[in-house]
Amino acid sequence: MKTCSKERLEDKIVTFSKFGDTGKGGITRFSLSPAALEAREEFCKRCKALGMTIKTDDMANIYATLKGEEGLPAIMSGSHMDSVKQGGNYDGILGVLTALEVAETIVTEKIPHRHPITVVVWTNEEGARFEPAMMSSGVITGKFDKDKMLASKDKEGTTFKEALEASGYLGEEANRMKPEENMALVELHIEQGPVLEAEKKDIGVVEGVCGMINYEFTFIGQADHAGTTPMKYRKDALYAATKTIQYLHDELDKLDSKLVYTTGKISAHPNIHTIIPDEVKFTLDARHQDPEVIKQVLAIIKAIPEVIEKCEVSYEEAWSRKTVAYYPEYVDFVEKSAQEYGYSAMRMYSGPGHDAQFIADVIPTTMIFVPSVKGHSHCEKEFTPVEACLKGANVLLQTLLKIDQK
Ligand SMILES: [Zn+2]
Repeated sequence: MKTCSKERLEDKIVTFSKFGDTGKGGITRFSLSPAALEAREEFCKRCKALGMTIKTDDMANIYATLKGEEGLPAIMSGSHMDSVKQGGNYDGILGVLTALEVAETIVTEKIPHRHPITVVVWTNEEGARFEPAMMSSGVITGKFDKDKMLASKDKEGTTFKEALEASGYLGEEANRMKPEENMALVELHIEQGPVLEAEKKDIGVVEGVCGMINYEFTFIGQADHAGTTPMKYRKDALYAATKTIQYLHDELDKLDSKLVYTTGKISAHPNIHTIIPDEVKFTLDARHQDPEVIKQVLAIIKAIPEVIEKCEVSYEEAWSRKTVAYYPEYVDFVEKSAQEYGYSAMRMYSGPGHDAQFIADVIPTTMIFVPSVKGHSHCEKEFTPVEACLKGANVLLQTLLKIDQK
């Protein structure tokens, strides 16, 4: 069986780690920043050297295409090249570099393929400079309003539109990927969690993306003097909030063990050590692949009393996402490809969101995960050994070739 080149893949990872290098093992490569533009330039240079043709669309998504033997729709693979602040050298970029390595393997080994192979780079996946995340895949799949996205501003007040126009990568809307011209997307990504490593598996066969809900809770009490107000007269919003957090943990722990939930944001007003807090807010993020479990989470939220410790309790949904199922036939192709190489694999759902989940609404899509050492991600410690990346690249190569035979 054909395999990708470890040396070439390593060279790609090392080369791209220089664009936005923090000097501490990671990168800061915000979307359309000078570092991101350097990475784009290097990417396009390498694609052209392989004889690929390059197009960009009106969101500066890049499509680099290797011609197929027949005039058929293209098979796409890729991910994003932007990062969070002080992020790692694998999130997103590995999906681009493995797709590029697969294209290079196809060219150098002269592997026949009927369909064009397109390596795709999605603009602004992280949303770290311009909110929201997955902006450009969201616009081209109709999830986000384009004009609103163009008006999104970074901290310096630059709009996304201005950054797009200055980038040199602004293309035609007609160049957007579309179902008539694209038959598949396979995105390779690091797992960004500890499961594959703990289970000693080489490959994550991603079946879909977990549904999630995000609720914000508000507790209204009374701000009074911390020294003069006897305990029995207090309306302490923070105390009421902590009781609720405890209740949520106790009850949610009774549900399926794959449920993950987090209170990651909390605020107390007026946040002064001599004043009883009168307004406290916190968030609850909960994720599970089964919509029934998410319904059970909602039932637990709805059982919260309207008054706790004499404080008024309210809550609202900040946002939510339905479970996304990937294309079963392509999911099977990933699993079979791993077996053919003798790699260990397990089926799993993605907790984080990825561009692929938006594209999945329009085009048959799936994903491949490779392990993240100790589960670290969105930090400089993010790491996947090149041997593990290579296994992912090989599975990607075989999966694309299986799709090509359809
Ligand atoms: Zn990513």
